[in-house]
Amino acid sequence: TIRWGLIGASNIAREHVINAIRQNGGEVLSVMSSDAGRANDYAAANGIPSGTDSLAALLERDDIDAVYISTTNELHRDQALAAAKAGKHILCEKPLALALADAHAMVNAAKAAGVVFATNHHLRNAGAHRAMRAAITEGRIGKPLAARVFHAVYLPPFLQGWRINAPAAGGGVILDIAVHDADTLRFVLGDEPESVQALTQSAGMAEGGLADAVMTTARFRSGLIAQTHDAFTSKYAGTGFEVHGTEGSLIARDVMTQKPIGSVVLRDNNGEHALDFDRGDLYVRALGAFHAATRGEGQPAATGEDGIRSLAFGLAVAEAARTGARVAVETGL
Ligand code: NDP
Repeated sequence: TIRWGLIGASNIAREHVINAIRQNGGEVLSVMSSDAGRANDYAAANGIPSGTDSLAALLERDDIDAVYISTTNELHRDQALAAAKAGKHILCEKPLALALADAHAMVNAAKAAGVVFATNHHLRNAGAHRAMRAAITEGRIGKPLAARVFHAVYLPPFLQGWRINAPAAGGGVILDIAVHDADTLRFVLGDEPESVQALTQSAGMAEGGLADAVMTTARFRSGLIAQTHDAFTSKYAGTGFEVHGTEGSLIARDVMTQKPIGSVVLRDNNGEHALDFDRGDLYVRALGAFHAATRGEGQPAATGEDGIRSLAFGLAVAEAARTGARVAVETGL
């Protein structure tokens, strides 16, 4: 049994990750919040035996094997460095950090400590995206030439906090959503983004110079071009992911989401066929791979390196939007 400590009394842990840990036979022993009262309330509400406001107290417990870091983004770095030093396996939320050098330091610290480090990019665990990747690998659309990601959603009122008003916490749509697009594109295409151009929008939801929507175009190593649209402000757009190749197109709808829903259609010379795919919970699959990795069996679904790569993409998008220039995606890897 892998025994977990939660760093951050977050919504994502409550909605998805605690369940995913338990579904994989893990236990959640403690939760840390910056506020002791909230830690205790959260622990009680979620069947967790203890809460604490001390990171050190959580990390010095010998009975905790792994930590899940889901605080606001500016806190991930120092918490991950401390967890690695304490010899805990680490599942860290995206974006790993606000600067690339920090993400490298986190991943290197875990390597040095000999612990597993994973990034919680959930979408590559979706059956829809895995079916698209398999179809591409099998050559069913020929050579992929272009991809389009539709990831413009409406941020629900209960999440309209630090994401839209706290630049120092790493708010804004780019580090929140564009990083997921980067990971999903890399995973589905088996390709790496090399450069980006981007335009952001602040349409009234986000404050403090933060963007609440962004459109990006990217060129990949293979020559493929991609476009992504991310937003907090689009109530009715729906999500989707398309890959267009020389011999066919993959057209997925409702797949940029936390739930195992949506559809994938292959359209080619023979017409249209819906692809069947696994409808298992994305986070449960991610935690299964993580637990296996702690036993030395394989890699987590998304590694630390994957988190570095998606952050590099996000930072390049932000710079491209700021400067109007085409920006190379520099991963430092
Ligand atoms: P939340 O806003 O729910 O939690 C973030 C922090 O905000 C918590 O650590 C907590 O601090 C504080 N907080 C939460 N509720 C309250 C409250 N009622 N009053 C005061 N403070 C509060 O964030 P999310 O769960 O949406 O996101 C957390 C991280 O997870 C981010 O890095 C985000 O990017 C990532 N994320 C990833 C997703 C994925 O699918 N991979 C999906 C959603 C988020 P404290 O711990 O100190 O109490």
